[in-house]
Amino acid sequence: MAQNAFDNAMAQLEKAANIMNLDTSIHTMLKQPERVLTVAIPITMDNGETQVFTGFRSQYNNTLGPYKGGIRYHWNVSLDEVKALSFWMTIKCATVNIPMGGGKGGIIVNPKELSEGELERLSRGFVQKIWRNIGSDKDIPAPDVYTTPQIMGWMRNEYESLVGHSDPGVITGKPIEDGGSEGRSFSTAQGGVYCVTALAKKQNLTPENTTIAIQGFGNAGSHMAKILHGLGYKIVAISDSKGGVYNKDGMDPHVAEKIKKEAGVLGVYCVGSVCTPSELVTEGHCKIITNEELLELEVDILVPAALENVITKENAANIKAKAIVELANGPTTPEADEILFEKGITIVPDVLANAGGVTVSYFEWDQNVKDEHWAEEDVLQKLETIMVEAFDAVWNKKEEYGVSMRTAAFVQALERIAEKIKV
Ligand code: GLU
Repeated sequence: MAQNAFDNAMAQLEKAANIMNLDTSIHTMLKQPERVLTVAIPITMDNGETQVFTGFRSQYNNTLGPYKGGIRYHWNVSLDEVKALSFWMTIKCATVNIPMGGGKGGIIVNPKELSEGELERLSRGFVQKIWRNIGSDKDIPAPDVYTTPQIMGWMRNEYESLVGHSDPGVITGKPIEDGGSEGRSFSTAQGGVYCVTALAKKQNLTPENTTIAIQGFGNAGSHMAKILHGLGYKIVAISDSKGGVYNKDGMDPHVAEKIKKEAGVLGVYCVGSVCTPSELVTEGHCKIITNEELLELEVDILVPAALENVITKENAANIKAKAIVELANGPTTPEADEILFEKGITIVPDVLANAGGVTVSYFEWDQNVKDEHWAEEDVLQKLETIMVEAFDAVWNKKEEYGVSMRTAAFVQALERIAEKIKV
């Protein structure tokens, strides 16, 4: 039985490798990261005390280009998780065919407990430990869970002070005024939206008749909810780490966001008036739901947009969505994948569905190295082309091999990596 995210990732690799007869030496090579850095980051806290945080950077594979992937700040970060995420980045970049390899970083910390000054010292402290191993032609970090453009700006600045020259492409997801790209802040969601649109086309769904539940209201989930709502899709449920709300008639995520800012919890407009979870009735038209309940709702499309391992063999049989679009990384375990495949539920896998983020990161890097700044319209047009091409290619591979879209994406990605290794 798969024990953790890295075991899950290796089970997915194994499955695709068997189906496509992947060269055994390439398969063996891909079973571990090329380099892993584990660093201790001592920080002076605001009260004058020193606290030491543990950080990781996993450089999984650079066959297709420099290692690429975000840095996560979360209390549950572990080496196995970072390794898995860096492997998925390798597959993700190859799936959408951008010239980047796979990497990932993380710090074990609850960033909500840190002051802004502590957060800045931690971010700069991490770069002081890993700067020799990163760079715009070596390894290019970016945001991930609980890391922001501002953090990327501090990291760029720290890196450049250490190397003594300008290198804006060392990190992506920067603030626009600091070399960031237009569209990057919502690009993970936008890429997911292009996948929803492509899927809707295949399944003859129209926005008005498509109900959607979104788990997670961070950068990816909140933008996804707002963009889909704008396109006319019916968002019936959303949740954050504290829980969720359901409105059978659909809701406006902008309102939910506004209520969250004011009341600290997500809310909905319920029969004309604003309800926060504490005021909602537990039955009927709109109600409070748990994160677990959200996953089991009868909807057309379920979007896990939070963390790994939320759809497991324990709840897979209860999933009633017709399709799943994975905006989070690794939300579905391999055992759950099997159950959902048997049930005929289409999963647009993370390595495709959330690849909009890293794709616009690649555009940001490209603009930085060419000293250009592209208009949002151009960025989105290029993103759409890449996402639609990747979606269609994965869809065709799925038909060719009679496998899930996840295995099809892996086969597609591994073919590209294997091809490059051979030449
Ligand atoms: N953290 C994002 C991901 O998991 C983006 C990575 C990047 O932009 O490099 O895909």
